Amino acid sequence: MDFNDTPEEAAYRTKARAWLSKNAEPIDPNEPAADPLAEREDEKTIQAAKAWQAKKFDEGWACITWPKEYGGQGGTTMQNVIFNQEQARFKTPPNIYTIGHGMLGPTIMTHGTPEQKAKYVKRMARGEEIWCQLFSEPAAGSDLAGLRSSALRDGDDWVINGQKIWSTGAHFSKWGMIVVRTDPNAAKHAGLTYFIIDMESKGIEIRPIKQINGGSGFNEVFFTDARVPDANRLGAVGDGWRVALTTLMNERVAIGAGSAAGGFKNLLKLARDTRRNGRPALQDSAVRQRLADFWVKQQGLKYTGFRTLSALSQGKTPGPEGSIGKAVGAPMAQELAAFAVELQGPLGATRDHAYSVHEALWQNNWLGVPGMRVAGGTDEILKNIIAERVLRLPPEIRLDKDLPFRDIPTGPPHK
Ligand SMILES: Cc1cc2nc3c(=O)[nH]c(=O)nc-3n(C[C@H](O)[C@H](O)[C@H](O)COP(=O)(O)OP(=O)(O)OC[C@H]3O[C@@H](n4cnc5c(N)ncnc54)[C@H](O)[C@@H]3O)c2cc1C
Repeated sequence: MDFNDTPEEAAYRTKARAWLSKNAEPIDPNEPAADPLAEREDEKTIQAAKAWQAKKFDEGWACITWPKEYGGQGGTTMQNVIFNQEQARFKTPPNIYTIGHGMLGPTIMTHGTPEQKAKYVKRMARGEEIWCQLFSEPAAGSDLAGLRSSALRDGDDWVINGQKIWSTGAHFSKWGMIVVRTDPNAAKHAGLTYFIIDMESKGIEIRPIKQINGGSGFNEVFFTDARVPDANRLGAVGDGWRVALTTLMNERVAIGAGSAAGGFKNLLKLARDTRRNGRPALQDSAVRQRLADFWVKQQGLKYTGFRTLSALSQGKTPGPEGSIGKAVGAPMAQELAAFAVELQGPLGATRDHAYSVHEALWQNNWLGVPGMRVAGGTDEILKNIIAERVLRLPPEIRLDKDLPFRDIPTGPPHK
């Protein structure tokens, strides 16, 4: 198997690298790479990210796989992969568009009316407005179809009541995509409807959640008689689950791509820059053994990732085996962070830049990385997918699947 670029891909890579060299500063290969989990909600970062996205849009590098009529480049998935690989070599603002560009844009393009596509997609591509995903609720995460927030029809509007949680970036988003229950008498997957909602509407309260790493990247969002026009409905009434599945399928791909970030390189740099028993930790045989273990595992992940790339380059859609990358990669990222903190000895316990190595990059990563084992599908849910859809084991028993939602015996009765 040859993993090299085809001549066309190599030419595209050269073109992308030339544009990036002209417009961004390259990353010094001796510096540790930026932490992909670093908090990114401050106003200055958001403005910098918006400016970078607008520049890419204006010069033909935004949303590479989207059709040109929606502000994309009409390019291939491999071109998108190549541009992202090249962009990772440069200092650019963090990507605050993973949810919009990776998940919600494709959902509107698949299920939206011509008016909805014309109104939202191009502006989303230029990054002028940020979008958030309002799916999870306090009692509906893995079991998303068990959600209880409701919408009732009132003239040309729907009236939404309920609560969402873990809504990343809701506090700086203009638009949200929300799934709510519109028919409690239907079976739980059948009574849902999907809407686009203006986050500045009356009746929406956004409360940031304080996280252990000091940031507030995600929120609780409360809806009290919030109105959304029927024109903002995406898909038919009662068809929200099918629309949501498009978002979720794209989420796996978007998150999978992000979790490939190079933690091992940072760990190697830390082992060079940290002293243990009077010499660089990298010279310690026990440390070297752990590094070798991580490297072997990382190579396995790299080549498993190449299967996805090969499928993409042949125009195929990657299958459920794509879940393996996150099922193995997220726990490994957590082990890596724990080892990096341990390697720093007592100083691993401080995030004070005066004492910590590499500006406490690993301490911050260690606090944020458990979330990667939950976001976009927990370890157990990914294992279920692999068991059922890759290994073809018998499916999990789902007793509530065909019952009217109102009759499912959990929690207080639905009002
Ligand atoms: C960093 C981060 C960002 C997020 N951003 C968003 C966002 O922008 N928008 C949004 O809507 N949501 C977001 N989420 C929420 C995320 O989608 C949910 O946390 C996730 O789906 C898990 O749901 P839950 O937290 O309710 O856990 P639960 O589903 O309650 O799971 C609790 C535990 O039970 C296990 N479990 C559940 N069901 C099964 C089963 N069938 N078999 C075996 N074990 C099971 C789980 O694996 C887990 O260990 C985000 C989460 C994180 C961590």
